Amino acid sequence: MGKRNEKYDVIVIGGGPSGMMCAGRAAELGANVLLLEKNQTLGNKLMLTGGGRCNITNADFDTNSFLNNFGDAKKYLHSPFSQFSVEDTFDFFQNRNLPLVTEARNRVFPKSQKVQDVFDVLTTYMKEGNVTILTNTRVRSIEREEQHVTAVIASGRREFTADHIVIATGGLAAPETGATGDGMTFLEDLGHTVEASNPNLVPLTTDAQWVHNLSGITWSFMKIRFVQNDKTQIRKTGKILFTHFGVSGPLIINSASEVKELLKTGPVEAVIDLFPDTDEPTLDKKIVKLLDKHLDKKMKNVLPEMIFKNVALEILELPNLQLSEQNAKFITREERKNLVHTLKNLTFEITGTCGMDKAIVADGGIDLSEVDFKNMTSRKYSNLYLLGDILNINRPSGGFSLQLCWTTGFVAGTDIGNKK
Ligand SMILES: Cc1cc2nc3c(=O)[nH]c(=O)nc-3n(C[C@H](O)[C@H](O)[C@H](O)COP(=O)(O)OP(=O)(O)OC[C@H]3O[C@@H](n4cnc5c(N)ncnc54)[C@H](O)[C@@H]3O)c2cc1C
Repeated sequence: MGKRNEKYDVIVIGGGPSGMMCAGRAAELGANVLLLEKNQTLGNKLMLTGGGRCNITNADFDTNSFLNNFGDAKKYLHSPFSQFSVEDTFDFFQNRNLPLVTEARNRVFPKSQKVQDVFDVLTTYMKEGNVTILTNTRVRSIEREEQHVTAVIASGRREFTADHIVIATGGLAAPETGATGDGMTFLEDLGHTVEASNPNLVPLTTDAQWVHNLSGITWSFMKIRFVQNDKTQIRKTGKILFTHFGVSGPLIINSASEVKELLKTGPVEAVIDLFPDTDEPTLDKKIVKLLDKHLDKKMKNVLPEMIFKNVALEILELPNLQLSEQNAKFITREERKNLVHTLKNLTFEITGTCGMDKAIVADGGIDLSEVDFKNMTSRKYSNLYLLGDILNINRPSGGFSLQLCWTTGFVAGTDIGNKK
């Protein structure tokens, strides 16, 4: 296809949640909007969120307390959140016939439990504003004239010009969804400072075979400690998911960046307490009772009365125990104490974090001091907007990432629409 020039009020690069929100909002205010997406479909990462249920925000309505989850970036976020807060997110979706429900740890989901319904709200919003959407269209570069961006060159050598350009191309986590870092390259080409990306909210890996063998098992309400040089460095309580490469689940992915830091200074062991509410002497008494009840049974048929069968079998086979085939009545006091101690201190070495392919969020992105958070513009190019995961902002899981998309997208869209 030959070179063409098409002029819009704004070009949004990237059809993820932040780009769709921005496009819809600018169009609602009357802007002529073009959205360019390199994938065949919009919102590929959005469709993975919350395991298909979409943890849309976090129901902490006190903005100051909500922003405590964003670390050093908090000071930048007061301004955009004063324009579009968690409460505004509730209003936005609920007024568009998407009732929301709040679950444990303030996590908010659509009542339907379907991310498709969130996607439908955003695409309807854009349709109502007549946003032009071109999929299968990858932006290759952004053109500039002095302190203004002027056009984008996309695949097929197509050129599109606009008064405003929005980079909403995402971070580097889960690259199979389209977030391959093009936006970071554009920013560097434009002279912006980009911090390097690493997986941040990400599962942890181990070589311990028994952990891999438990793949698929979820254990709620347990304690995990991360230990270095016999000293507990991190302590967490919650749910853990065993996988074929290590451990995952909210508890783990929210610990990953701290564990990654620890690994830089030496080996790290994870120590799981399967009975956090029971101390060792009390657990020992329970085990004595259990053994007395099943004197003639093998341990592999006894321990599953207390814990998941698969977990029990893996524990009994650990090199320091090897008790599966032993009859309960032959368990020595020392073996029993050893078992009790292991149940309270199930230990395996952490070898690292998974890569970008398994990450929820990567850190890195544009240096925040180069962004004007009043309207989400670049401080170098006043008509260039920066949204969502492209910003170098760390946050935990729990709906904080998508809220950042709704807020930054809405604030930028409003600014663009008002400049029409
Ligand atoms: C498995 C998983 C589960 C998650 N669950 C949750 C959750 O429940 N709650 C939550 O708050 N957060 C969750 N997140 C994080 C959340 O999905 C992201 O923070 C969010 O999608 C970021 O939105 P974005 O608009 O910045 O970028 P993205 O969603 O990454 O969208 C960027 C878009 O830009 C397109 N693009 C990139 N380069 C170009 C180019 N050159 N030209 C054209 N288009 C381009 C991409 O194809 C992509 O569609 C999850 C993430 C993952 C991976």
